[in-house]
Amino acid sequence: MMNIIRIPVLEDNYIFVLHDPDTNEGAVVDPAVAKPVLDCLESLGAKLVAIFNTHHHLDHVGGNKELIEAFPDAVVYGGKEDRGRIPRQQVFLEEGDQVEFSGKKGKVFFVPGHTRAHIAYYFAPTKDDDKGDLFCGDTLFAGGCGRLFEGTPAQMVDSLDKFRTLPDDTRVWCAHEYTLSNLKFAITVDGNNLYLLDRYEEVRIARSQDKPTIPSLIGIEKKTNPFMRWDSESVKLAMGFEQPERVFAKLRGMKDNF
Ligand code: ZN
Ligand code: FE
Repeated sequence: MMNIIRIPVLEDNYIFVLHDPDTNEGAVVDPAVAKPVLDCLESLGAKLVAIFNTHHHLDHVGGNKELIEAFPDAVVYGGKEDRGRIPRQQVFLEEGDQVEFSGKKGKVFFVPGHTRAHIAYYFAPTKDDDKGDLFCGDTLFAGGCGRLFEGTPAQMVDSLDKFRTLPDDTRVWCAHEYTLSNLKFAITVDGNNLYLLDRYEEVRIARSQDKPTIPSLIGIEKKTNPFMRWDSESVKLAMGFEQPERVFAKLRGMKDNF
């Protein structure tokens, strides 16, 4: 069994602690900082066995060193192309590789775009848990996507397209709470989308009560996130292009200046 604990840190980051209550093993996805993870593990009485990094940015790996000092046997995973950029990285993953935690297999997606080395982890449903979990770092956000720091629009379209193949009820654990501002932008380009308008209202209320909007679901992203909808008639029309990379590039450029 794998419980997922969401820890808000820094301005708007989330760290995810994975915990198996049967074995008392823990793992962490993108530890921006170490202290709250150590506190969480201590309160659970759990031992850290794995750090799963999605990419090298400091707000995703900043806690690696200190966590490994506290748990020297924990294994640090990251993308193959991130060699030399992730502190204490030991395993260099590529598309199709598998990781394991708590008897669950996590499939690795290579999803360049935000960075040239970005990966995501997908834990498929099991008999104890009928929903899958996607840890996508800064590639897909609820209602948006990561900026293109080291990749091209075509790469990001390919990367996001991999996520569109996942079941609609897959939980999306993205690394930042950007949902409200993402949806404000989304409405400016896809404002006749009734699913989007409903979602905006839900998210506005949740955030006004300081509630998290993560995890999202793949099915919701496919219906409301313009960055997952480059082939929808409404988004194509709003961008004035047909070709996926061009629709996406225009959208990303507009969001960068929003
Ligand atoms: Zn990043
Ligand atoms: Fe980030």
